[in-house]
Amino acid sequence: MSSTPTRPIYLDYAATTPVDERVATVMQRYLTVDQLFANPASRSHMSGWQAEQAVEHARRQVADTINADPREIVWTSGATEADNLALTGFMRANRARGRHLITSIIEHKAVVDTAKALASEGVEVTWLKPGNDGCITPTQLREVMRDDTALVSLMAVNNELGSINDIKALAEVAHQFGAAFHTDAAQAVGRIELDVVAQSVDLMSLSGHKAYGPKGVGALYVKRDPSLRIEALIHGGGHERGMRSGTLPTHQIAAMGEAFALAQQYSLEEQQRITHLRQNFLNGLQQIGGVFLNSPADNAVPNIINVAFDGVEAEPLLMALRDIAVSTGSACNSASVDPSYVLLGVGIPRRLALASLRFSLGRYTTQDDIEHTLHVLAHAVDGLR
Ligand SMILES: *Cc1c(COP(=O)(O)O)cnc(C)c1O
Repeated sequence: MSSTPTRPIYLDYAATTPVDERVATVMQRYLTVDQLFANPASRSHMSGWQAEQAVEHARRQVADTINADPREIVWTSGATEADNLALTGFMRANRARGRHLITSIIEHKAVVDTAKALASEGVEVTWLKPGNDGCITPTQLREVMRDDTALVSLMAVNNELGSINDIKALAEVAHQFGAAFHTDAAQAVGRIELDVVAQSVDLMSLSGHKAYGPKGVGALYVKRDPSLRIEALIHGGGHERGMRSGTLPTHQIAAMGEAFALAQQYSLEEQQRITHLRQNFLNGLQQIGGVFLNSPADNAVPNIINVAFDGVEAEPLLMALRDIAVSTGSACNSASVDPSYVLLGVGIPRRLALASLRFSLGRYTTQDDIEHTLHVLAHAVDGLR
């Protein structure tokens, strides 16, 4: 028997992570009148220079996490903006290279909706369909590459399934055909190895709040290469080498830098701990019966576990879980519930997609959390069947 926990159990780390205490401590240094609150773009006084130093320190921390040069990091408001800047900024700046964009049907909405918007301004989009392991293969990509393909955008880790794309192999195919390669790595930081040089990535989207940093900050890695131009979407003071204007939020940026430095430092140990919790959770689910794993059994990050409970609808199950924060990938419209486009995209039948929940584990998940969740789940599923 597991004891009743004192706070709600949080198993939704793929939606957002809490800010690590050590990160929050750093963040607090850049806000009030006695601190380094100055505008990092102020060049006429010491306070401004100190704020700028904090921003540049964080730029190096983020760059180090992905083996980039600090000059290749462009701060944004999150991975959503980074995805928009990568796709739209690149396609607009490189009209001469071609008007063909390749992506997949299970990308995050920040990529899917941006690609759709680009289609309405004359970009031709090819939508790849992954296998049921959630991956796009290099062969599949090679088959749709064209002379006028300017950009390929495929995510590193899928946010609903946890599936991992071989971005190195995919980037190589893109390059063979003279196209640039973008990857959304929001879910990958601290979970898989990221190395923009070894993986030959040209553009990479990052988010602070998926890696124990704050919400509202992210970055786009833009490879330093004269042939890699990006047109700004936000115009203003010419910050970030003209690619993204706006006063830099020193506290957010310093915090994201610290969070990424911690991710680099702790990821292996943390991943082993979470892999162990995942195994215990999967074993427990097995006991419930009629449970299907939507996430690939291997080649997936251990913290994301997407499962279908046959014969149960996800919405009432979610209600029955009360104090346990998990998510369905479904979208609630005015009249009905649409199953997750990602689950349908990897061939999960509609019936099972509507019976699916995503459990995502993280830094503060304990064995007690897992046991309590399994206990509540067993009762809830029983009651609903
Ligand atoms: C969360 C997430 C985003 C959006 O990031 P924000 O920083 O919240 O804008 C984009 N892509 C993936 C894969 C994500 O998981």
